[in-house]
Amino acid sequence: MECHECGADAVHQELLPNFDTTIYGLPLTLKNAVKKLTCSNCGATRYRFPSNKDHMIEKSLAFARLQVPIILSGSEIRFLRNTLNMDQEAFCEQVMPGAQVSTLSRWENDKQRPGGFAELLLRSNIAALIAEDAPGMEYNPKFAVGMKLVEGEIGQIAMEQIKININHQIKEAWSLVA
Ligand SMILES: [Zn+2]
Repeated sequence: MECHECGADAVHQELLPNFDTTIYGLPLTLKNAVKKLTCSNCGATRYRFPSNKDHMIEKSLAFARLQVPIILSGSEIRFLRNTLNMDQEAFCEQVMPGAQVSTLSRWENDKQRPGGFAELLLRSNIAALIAEDAPGMEYNPKFAVGMKLVEGEIGQIAMEQIKININHQIKEAWSLVA
């Protein structure tokens, strides 16, 4: 493989067992998914990422986050809304009927918290809406029933790429690694 910096045919690639990053402040580890390309002539390095069609990485991460009972931060609520590709108005109409845009804005800016009841409804509805787009994640529609929300800091969320069979088609998806 040729180096994009020096042109030497000296690039070797290494599949990284762990690639750590953050998305909207959420700590994410991609396992065995990112390749590091290094040129042994000039030392240039770059990374090659797996394809992320339809933002499946973000949607799978969002789905995983919803199952963790640590109270959502404002930026996490914004991240979840973005994975649904909705503006604040659409989100209030379709996900949190009865919520005002001004209220959602305060949630997203950490000026106010949704409160337990609203947060559980929000989690339940978002999960239902993105489950199909995160097919590697196990979806139990009852996950938020009886969930006890707690304060805390979110730990690293580790995901790996798997192949799954959907309607006789093999698809790439992301699943959680314990
Ligand atoms: Zn080079």
